[in-house]
Amino acid sequence: MRLSRYFLPVLKETPAEAQIASHRLMLRAGMIKQASAGIYSWLPLGYKVLKNIERIVHEEQQAAGHIPLLMPTLQPADLWRESGRYDAYGPEMLRIRDRHERDMLFGPTNEEMITDIFRSHVTSYRDLPMTLYHIQWKFRDEVRPRFGVMRGREFYMKDGYNFDVDREAALHAYNRHMVSYLRTYERMGIQAIPMRADSGPIGGEDTHEFLLLAETGESEVFYDTAITDLKLGARPIDYDSVADCQAIVDEWTAPYARTDETHDESLFDAVPEERRRVSRGIEVGQIFYFGTKYSEAMGATITNSEGQVVPVHMGSHGIGVSRLVGAIIEANHDDKGIIWPEGVAPFHCGIVNLRQGDGDCDAICARIEAELMTAGLDPLYDDRDERAGAKFATMDLIGLPWRITVGPRGLKNGVVELTSRRTGESEELPVEAAVDRLVQIYSS
Ligand code: ATP
Ligand code: MG
Repeated sequence: MRLSRYFLPVLKETPAEAQIASHRLMLRAGMIKQASAGIYSWLPLGYKVLKNIERIVHEEQQAAGHIPLLMPTLQPADLWRESGRYDAYGPEMLRIRDRHERDMLFGPTNEEMITDIFRSHVTSYRDLPMTLYHIQWKFRDEVRPRFGVMRGREFYMKDGYNFDVDREAALHAYNRHMVSYLRTYERMGIQAIPMRADSGPIGGEDTHEFLLLAETGESEVFYDTAITDLKLGARPIDYDSVADCQAIVDEWTAPYARTDETHDESLFDAVPEERRRVSRGIEVGQIFYFGTKYSEAMGATITNSEGQVVPVHMGSHGIGVSRLVGAIIEANHDDKGIIWPEGVAPFHCGIVNLRQGDGDCDAICARIEAELMTAGLDPLYDDRDERAGAKFATMDLIGLPWRITVGPRGLKNGVVELTSRRTGESEELPVEAAVDRLVQIYSS
């Protein structure tokens, strides 16, 4: 992409309404525009990041054997009357009446609708286990939408629902979700720590929230630093293996890690003092086993292997796809701007032409751009007739992980400069070597 033809409405001024870094930077980098409180348009740069995050979520869910589908945003109130949640949900639910006076709502979540789909088509344990998920816009009329996309009213969420024959099978689905979420966040270049959460009125212990550590997080968190050393890395995972998934879950739930809602002083005190941390975190996901709550209320039954008709066991599992865009920035920025992890960056690298209009510089920039694209990479070439300082400031603000700088002085010696946004370190390399290096970075 050539910057001269792109739509990147960066702001020079720091917007006064933004209280935290990610919100400020998303506005300044031209990623979003507020349409009304808690509702945003995703401008081209923001949209690319949102889609990158969505793609990783899809890939990791499907690797775990979960099946994508798509349910509508608008739902009939009658389904929610069956579960009893139409009245219970309260003012966060946006209620709408259509021209035929039918009560509708903009879905805040989809337990009822997925249970309805399931009960219409599945009747036997032979079709299980099954996990269906979608990535769809949600609406919750939050009292205090704030921090940009982090607490929106309209937001993009992956929500998945497992259907299993009994509690034991459903707990394997729960573990599968925990493992796939850990992998998902790792691929995005962040660490989100599973913390035992409060299951509320449903009871039981089977819910974890995933928290990204950040000073601006809304939750207070207490943890043993041992958990921050854990990494899945390239470890192969057999999602069908109960033992494999359980082993990973055991490893990740052994160190103490809880939010203020479930915090237990005496357990925390048992952690060696030098490993105890009290900090803040952003909730970027949650997994939940809730048994037969919806299947009993809505008559979603199956015949088990003994021929008995029983309510199906379920859980629901969410990832805040749009919140992650802000959360990743909270954990990855400096005073110049965003520092995208490679897995989610809107472009793989920037190309800065220090002397636009100079025949050699223009030709080399065009060549680098073409070669990177041929190799399957997506560069952003700043071909505007601007001062070098302004070009660097834009690149630093939008946070592309790598920058290739092309200037007449370097070209005289046959080199260009490759700079890491994260470390600020630069290296002079011949054109081919710079291109090769980038291709290598993104193929590993
Ligand atoms: P919160 O406690 O932050 O209000 P929640 O526990 O009500 O969130 P869930 O129902 O668990 O949310 O939804 C799954 C995920 O969707 C959350 O972990 C979060 O990442 C994301 N999410 C929830 N509410 C919002 C919102 N208002 N704006 C953006 N993302 C959200
Ligand atoms: Mg939650």
